[in-house]
Amino acid sequence: MSVTGDLHRRYGGNTTCFEIEVEPGHHLIIDGGTGLRSLQRQAASGEPRRYSILLTHYHWDHIQGLPAFQPLFEIDNRVTFYGPRFDDRGVAETLGAVIRPPWWPVSLDEVAADVSFRDLNGPFAVGPIMVRHAEGSHPQGVVLFRLEGPNRSIVIATDHEAGNTDADARLISLASNSDVLVHDAQYTPDEVRTTRKGWGHSSYESAVRAAQDAGVNRLVLTSHDPDRADEDVDRLKSMARAMFPNTDAAYEGMAIPL
Ligand SMILES: [Zn+2]
Repeated sequence: MSVTGDLHRRYGGNTTCFEIEVEPGHHLIIDGGTGLRSLQRQAASGEPRRYSILLTHYHWDHIQGLPAFQPLFEIDNRVTFYGPRFDDRGVAETLGAVIRPPWWPVSLDEVAADVSFRDLNGPFAVGPIMVRHAEGSHPQGVVLFRLEGPNRSIVIATDHEAGNTDADARLISLASNSDVLVHDAQYTPDEVRTTRKGWGHSSYESAVRAAQDAGVNRLVLTSHDPDRADEDVDRLKSMARAMFPNTDAAYEGMAIPL
């Protein structure tokens, strides 16, 4: 869940949202957490824009920013949601079930923008970016994404709990030789072994192991525990760096070239 205050000034307290402007006026977004609001400033230009929003899963902290996403309320914008099927329901039905009264005053089918939905089913292109995906390990499931740009590749593996042999193998295969791996590192190794086992998140130690096994160049730790202050995240990052020097911890507004 999002957090605010002095303890979270540097890494930020918003929930998950990644964005790439894949071509002028076309934004590829992964997850619609509260971080989505930062994008609205760019949308203020008045030019029609296109948004391709890829959802890893439907937990609240990954969709919380969507209902109030201003570009949805501007005519001429095109917004396409890509998401996994869950329990025989596609992305349209799953999102539509919560973005509607009484949970929100406006339903997705009433917004001004031209909205469409695609269930995830194999590789697809978003502008010049090729997107591949695999299933990770998380309660109610999660999708791991690989984005292949003209020069670089990046893998987003948020909300993946290491330890499931099949899911770990799918991640390593997906992330193989990518330039950047953004990997969940919410807990300490001790926490995942004891009180947080099965909660759907990994330790920085597992993130490092995945980076090494997949042969990536750079590791970015993400999905920080909201109970951890900036200094705590610094500490986890240092421990990860001792094992994999090219490691950073994701922070609000961080830019990664693709
Ligand atoms: Zn989740």
